[in-house]
Amino acid sequence: MLLTIIYLLASVSFILGLKMLSNPASARKGNRIAAAGMGLAILGTIFLYEETDGTRLGNYGWIFGGLIIGTIVGTLAAKKVKMTAMPEMVSLFNGMGGACAALISITEFNHMAEMIHQPHDIILGDIFPASASYSAWVGQSVVILAGLIIGSVSFSGSVIAWGKLNGKIHDFAFKGQHLVNMLLFLIILGLAGWMAGVYKNANLTVFYLIFVLSLLYGVFFVLPIGGADMPVVISLLNSFTGVAAACGGFLYNNKAMLTGGILVGAAGTLLTILMCKAMNRSLLNVLVGSFGGGATAKIEGGKAPGNYKEITLSDTAVLLTYAHKVMIVPGYGLAVAQAQHACHELEKLLTEKGVEVKYAIHPVAGRMPGHMNVLLAEADVDYDHLLEMETANEQFSTTDVVLVLGANDVVNPAAKTDPASPIYGMPILEVELAKNCIVNKRSMKPGYAGIENDLFFQPKTSMLFGDAKKVLESITTEIKNL
Ligand code: NDP
Repeated sequence: MLLTIIYLLASVSFILGLKMLSNPASARKGNRIAAAGMGLAILGTIFLYEETDGTRLGNYGWIFGGLIIGTIVGTLAAKKVKMTAMPEMVSLFNGMGGACAALISITEFNHMAEMIHQPHDIILGDIFPASASYSAWVGQSVVILAGLIIGSVSFSGSVIAWGKLNGKIHDFAFKGQHLVNMLLFLIILGLAGWMAGVYKNANLTVFYLIFVLSLLYGVFFVLPIGGADMPVVISLLNSFTGVAAACGGFLYNNKAMLTGGILVGAAGTLLTILMCKAMNRSLLNVLVGSFGGGATAKIEGGKAPGNYKEITLSDTAVLLTYAHKVMIVPGYGLAVAQAQHACHELEKLLTEKGVEVKYAIHPVAGRMPGHMNVLLAEADVDYDHLLEMETANEQFSTTDVVLVLGANDVVNPAAKTDPASPIYGMPILEVELAKNCIVNKRSMKPGYAGIENDLFFQPKTSMLFGDAKKVLESITTEIKNL
């Protein structure tokens, strides 16, 4: 009874935590609440769980040894990670979740094998003849196999995604790879269907074959996808891990695990859909297309569409100081430069001088969803100053100066004007509507999509080259000296 209440509390904490994560102001608290719920569920399971015959878990040395090692490694990794490497870490942690789900399936399948005293030759149909218990047995194997397949794909896929994000693994594809993937997937499904009772004979060798093929499928599934599309893939793999964990919840009749798994599965799926929508691409296009894949990125036509003009630091300082309204557009480059604190300093200085300063946040600015919100929250930027894309777009025409900091694709007008552009249809921040637009980046190189940006060549735009952090610090010094 007490354990059921603990599981209920844990489930409520997950839902509450997830809800609070949707707002940067409450996100930290939400994270802590969900973590506390998870801690409670783990301790409850360790100390209160009883088998039907009354036996407790035992093996406390192993359990707490694992918990302590995991906690130390997880805490150190989370403390050390740079904001730009966050998707990498999420991917690795997600892979661990998938591996856990697959290991649960392996353990439980072996239990089934032990139960019927025939570890190397399980004859499902003979032991559970056509009766209700047979269908329950089939149900059990379906859940075990689903956990095994989805967990293994998520594990190997996440490890490849991690390697691609940190540059250790490069995109790899061969002709007809999608067909091979499809074939592999069908073989896995066929073997699993056969094992789950379509045919009566099923043995451990086939079970481990499914395991190995699923690991291989995860590798083949992620390898050809463009490195910069990894956040979308990670989010998808994250939802897989959730479903695999939910399978574990079914197996153990553990409500907290079931709720947690379903929530992760649903949240991951929604996030994947939202990211694709914000880039105006279908999931299929992300999975089979090569948009943003470093090596394949090209500047169309190979030449710049005109001349651009540069602005000096002191002219920028003057323009910003005497503006009524300034809109800052942060992008991936701001995260790379770790310029969020310098940016907040400039914002505070301008506000003191009576300038209205707002931030325009594009939903996929940066390299992971909510990247800019988290980055600016880290620097204590007031959440009320962040405008969502739709609101910002309504305000650009009344803005005196837009300061684009390390953003490129999310302000590229080609998304509206050039049907041939790979980002055509992606909603963008319409910064060109403002009276002046200053773009800070280090060079004229393209951004993630690898395409030229017309904005840089428009008459109202001035380029301010340099590392975002250094540039922001210099502007602040210039304004103080005015
Ligand atoms: P982009 O990658 O388009 O542009 C970033 C720009 O920052 C580059 O052009 C680069 O130019 C500049 N930059 C890099 N380092 C620095 C530095 N130290 N100081 C100043 N500038 C720097 O980023 P955006 O944020 O505009 O767009 C995000 C892109 O990522 C979109 O195409 C989006 O679809 C994609 N994406 C986003 C996901 C998400 O969930 N957020 C997921 C998957 C993809 P230079 O080298 O000249 O300095």
